[in-house]
Amino acid sequence: MDITCGSRFVPLLPKKYDLNIFKLKTEVFMIKDVPVIREEECLGCSVCEEMCPAVFRFNASLGYALVINPTGASAEEIQEVMDSCPSSCIDWAGN
Ligand code: SF4
Repeated sequence: MDITCGSRFVPLLPKKYDLNIFKLKTEVFMIKDVPVIREEECLGCSVCEEMCPAVFRFNASLGYALVINPTGASAEEIQEVMDSCPSSCIDWAGN
């Protein structure tokens, strides 16, 4: 869709290659590959951050850990953190 601005057309949609990049990203990042924390069960021990600081960060203000970058480590590394969480409150999305 275009709108007229004076004698020029101003495109409202991203260029075609921008749409292709978006499509590529959605194909690469499958939702099941994303770790999620059940915040209400988090003990705030910071083990996840100590083991994998690129993915997990304990937030003292909130009192629980957050996933700051779900693709910051390999699935094997994240699984190791999941297995080490004393509350077992980290899961793969969709599980
Ligand atoms: S390891 Fe588990 S319980 Fe400990 S801060 Fe991380 S998510 Fe919370």
